[in-house]
Amino acid sequence: MSKQFSRHGILFLISAPSGAGKTTLVEKLRQTPNLFYSVSCTTRAPRTGEIDGEDYQFLSDKDFRARVEAGDFLEHARVHCDYYGTLREPVLANLKSGVDVLIDIDTQGAAAIRNCDDPFIREALSDIFIMPPDHEELRRRLHKRGTETAQQIESRVATAAREMELWRSYRYTVISGSVEEDLQKLRRIMSAESYLSRRLVQK
Ligand code: 5GP
Repeated sequence: MSKQFSRHGILFLISAPSGAGKTTLVEKLRQTPNLFYSVSCTTRAPRTGEIDGEDYQFLSDKDFRARVEAGDFLEHARVHCDYYGTLREPVLANLKSGVDVLIDIDTQGAAAIRNCDDPFIREALSDIFIMPPDHEELRRRLHKRGTETAQQIESRVATAAREMELWRSYRYTVISGSVEEDLQKLRRIMSAESYLSRRLVQK
């Protein structure tokens, strides 16, 4: 960046119904330099291989509620019987110091951020929807992942079907193909967003 200009960070928000392959995409995007990944809090139990503090901050119901009451969350929502929340402080601190932030949240969380009171957050936001393949393919991917029971899979497919109706609320929609294709599209969006005139601050 030149000496004359600087810019605030961009809040990249990605939503994708279960089974859209988002976990792999997010893992790859997390390797982008100058991009902070916001680790959400959740009351969900860790899946095999998930690391506390890296995948999520795993909290008890009681601790989660305490953090809601303390106003620690930028948004929080109940998704598939568990609670999830985005911590406010690390997101704001990074955006203010010019670092882009990536949050991976559901459609309710996305709506909350879009309508949040803070104009700084609304201005920083760039929201992207990953449109998964059809329901059958989704169901197949969830079975293959093998981390949910048959009942949980059906609940996730039903939620996915509802979430897929909401793509128009997002600035960008990526129709999911291979991981490599999706990644390339996401990187292009992220690059173009960084050149928006309105994001520049003249010193
Ligand atoms: P999973 O349990 O499969 O990791 O995530 C379930 C859903 O919760 C996904 O749609 C994911 O994007 C969403 N999610 C993860 N973290 C947050 C968060 O902090 N806030 C909200 N609203 N949703 C989240």
